[in-house]
Amino acid sequence: AQAGVVIVGAGPAGLVLGNLLLDRGIDCVILERRDRAAVEGRARAGFLAAHSVRVLTENGLAAGLLARGKTHTTCLFRSVRGQFTLDYGKLGLGEPHTVYPQQELVRDLIAEYLRRGGEIRFGAEAEEVAGEAGGEAAGEAGEGRVRVRVRGGADVTGRYVAGCDGHRGIGRAALTAHGTRTARRDHGVSWLAVLVAAPPSLEAVGYALHERGFAGHMARTAAVTRYYLQCPRGTDPADWSEDRIWTELAIRLRTDEFGPLRQGAVLEKAVVDLRSDVLESPGAGRLWLAGDAAGLISPSAAKGANLAVLQAELLARALEGALAHGDGTGLARYAADCLPRVWRAHEFSHWMSGLLHGPAGEDDEARYGRALQYARLESLRTSRTHQDFFAENYTGI
Ligand code: FAD
Repeated sequence: AQAGVVIVGAGPAGLVLGNLLLDRGIDCVILERRDRAAVEGRARAGFLAAHSVRVLTENGLAAGLLARGKTHTTCLFRSVRGQFTLDYGKLGLGEPHTVYPQQELVRDLIAEYLRRGGEIRFGAEAEEVAGEAGGEAAGEAGEGRVRVRVRGGADVTGRYVAGCDGHRGIGRAALTAHGTRTARRDHGVSWLAVLVAAPPSLEAVGYALHERGFAGHMARTAAVTRYYLQCPRGTDPADWSEDRIWTELAIRLRTDEFGPLRQGAVLEKAVVDLRSDVLESPGAGRLWLAGDAAGLISPSAAKGANLAVLQAELLARALEGALAHGDGTGLARYAADCLPRVWRAHEFSHWMSGLLHGPAGEDDEARYGRALQYARLESLRTSRTHQDFFAENYTGI
């Protein structure tokens, strides 16, 4: 049997897309290489922008996050110059964040997708997109089909393939093999991302600027908190014992001055290299990408999952046009619809990265870079205009 849309990847992008397509009467099948427990247990993002919450709510996908998510409207900055809180919910467009762990959202999305009658094949690794992928003009809604080869299993065919398989996925590989170019930046910074079994220590997200490197505090649930520690590229997480993590967090978050952190067991630690990239066109012909597959964004402004929801929403509408109404204009416009918003998120992420990470070293350039970092922080502390800019971009998508 042929699906309308073969979705590769059951992350936020693929699952939102699948739910929206089923709701519009378009049949689809999701191929996911991991098993269900692995997908539902993967702790990653936690901050949902107001736009994401709106999309999920309007499409009947928000019961869990509305019941268990926490609204956040402030964030805190600490440095050698003291600390200040930004009440961003009262600045800019006046929008909050909803803090809801990504794995809980994924769990909700899988349950709802299955309830709507959707099919997910767990443990099905897509190996290659074959057939007409990329071979037709973008937006053409002909009768062609596309085939996805599955490792050790039967091929799956559909009218379209949605590559929602992350930045190392086969969707992106197939497009770049057809000549799609990528714009990228390595921010030259890495973070040790730590998940701890302890309640949050601050009421808000905390960003600490320190000569030893950035440290971040992000609430997740009443019992789990995420911390970040800037670390040298190539760091082995195994070199960071629990003691070392808590000692370094205490130094950078200046607990002597501002009070202790609530400690608990380290549940997970991993090193994330801060890199960003954007495909110049997120699809062509019968292959269209959404989420990290279409572009990876450094986590400095917590935009990744939100861009995944945005792109899934836009792609669902475009695929509905093509499949239900024979109208390919939505697909033809998909890049133009999403890229300006994607680039604004990247611009702000890059701006945040400049705020959070000063250059290391004692040469003239490093001292100049650090002075700029503190000038940016001071401007954010004192200038209402700058605060509005921050709030609008911090919560916006
Ligand atoms: P993914 O979630 O990566 O899902 C892709 C899926 O495709 C996976 O399930 C994978 O197993 C599957 N797959 C891959 N290849 C294949 C294949 N060949 N065949 C079948 N299946 C395949 N974003 C935020 O907005 N806010 C945050 O606070 C935030 N914090 C983060 C913290 C960390 C430590 C990390 C790593 C990321 C964070 N992000 C954050 C980013 C966010 O998690 C990602 O942007 C988001 O998961 C992207 O969703 P996606 O659906 O595009 O991709």
